[in-house]
Amino acid sequence: MAEDRRLVETHGCIVCGRLHSLLVVYSPHQALIGCAVTSPGGHRVFDPDRPLVACDAHPAAAIEAAYLRYQMAAGQEEADEDE
Ligand SMILES: [Zn+2]
Repeated sequence: MAEDRRLVETHGCIVCGRLHSLLVVYSPHQALIGCAVTSPGGHRVFDPDRPLVACDAHPAAAIEAAYLRYQMAAGQEEADEDE
């Protein structure tokens, strides 16, 4: 059956690693369609490919810096797969 899949996943805050629950929706081809943070005190950090979360308590600049580090780390992991 080609249906969207809804999963409850646990992801660590990209700044401090605190765990948050997310409701994540994937297409039948494993593409990320959307996600929502279901635990209090967290919010989604927008990324087109992955569900990311950060605590509400962190300043925007800290979240932005953590997200840049995350992108760099993810880019290095995927470099081998692209070629
Ligand atoms: Zn945090």
